[in-house]
Amino acid sequence: MSDLYAVMGNPINHSKSPQIHSAFAEQTGQDLIYSAILVPLEKFSDEANSFFRSGFGLNVTVPFKEDAWQYADTYSSRALRAGAVNTLIKKEDGSIHADNTDGIGMVRDITVNNGCDIAGKRVLVLGAGGAVRGILEPVLEEKPLEVVVANRTVSKAQRLAEDFSDIGTIVGCGFDQIEGQFDLIINGTSASLSGELPPIPESVIHQNTICYDMMYGAEPTIFNQWAASHNAALTLDGLGMLVEQAAESFTTWRGVRPDSAPVISSMRNSLVPAKA
Ligand code: NDP
Repeated sequence: MSDLYAVMGNPINHSKSPQIHSAFAEQTGQDLIYSAILVPLEKFSDEANSFFRSGFGLNVTVPFKEDAWQYADTYSSRALRAGAVNTLIKKEDGSIHADNTDGIGMVRDITVNNGCDIAGKRVLVLGAGGAVRGILEPVLEEKPLEVVVANRTVSKAQRLAEDFSDIGTIVGCGFDQIEGQFDLIINGTSASLSGELPPIPESVIHQNTICYDMMYGAEPTIFNQWAASHNAALTLDGLGMLVEQAAESFTTWRGVRPDSAPVISSMRNSLVPAKA
């Protein structure tokens, strides 16, 4: 019988994880079935218990990443700090190990797929929600010169900076307190979802600045349109992050790393522009 994996979320119809993991399984010859499970709110642990009676590993998406963190027995270091996880694996003794692969997925997309160093760079991170908490340890482990976290609610940015200050140089501030230019700007706000831009000065961009929007779509995101219009050297979106976080989960589960490039490319081709 094939090994069982799944993604749990609510809603779940939009999830691209079954498509991505099926492509990885086919490519690497792994015998597995990966499905999408719609979980009623408040029912995460019941559904996870039921799944793990026969299942091997779970991905977890909105709104259950904190529930999954609570559910787990052991954690990777980055998952422990993130307080939210997207990957669960059942170990041989029956215990559940948790990982957060979003951040390492984004870092691999920037450094491996796009050949851009984070080491020694001045990095601006916009937003201080769950996604940003998940990326900070992997970003800081690349040894940037400095990370500035700017957020609408300033106290959340300051709190994040405090929580991660033992790994590297990191400060938190409001959008109006951003000073100087940055080599890498990561948009981790959900502003793009509503077609809005975080209010940051255009002077943050210099001729070699790379801009990364964790959101993605068939068209360039509003943040990346803004970045391109202010002459950013490169604009990247979160599709590569999505595929790479899946590749990281797959590698943890199966012990074999899939080639993400063809999957990113086919996912890109399958994105449909929104109707005007
Ligand atoms: P959260 O709801 O946890 O956080 C949202 C953040 O956006 C907060 O910092 C919030 O500020 C800020 N924000 C929201 N609206 C605005 C606005 N209009 N102007 C300025 N700031 C705003 O969301 P997540 O952290 O879970 O997700 C953030 C983004 O990352 C989403 O776009 C999501 O799609 C993307 N993402 C992409 C992934 C991928 O694989 N590509 C994986 C995970 C997330 P405040 O604190 O003041 O409310």
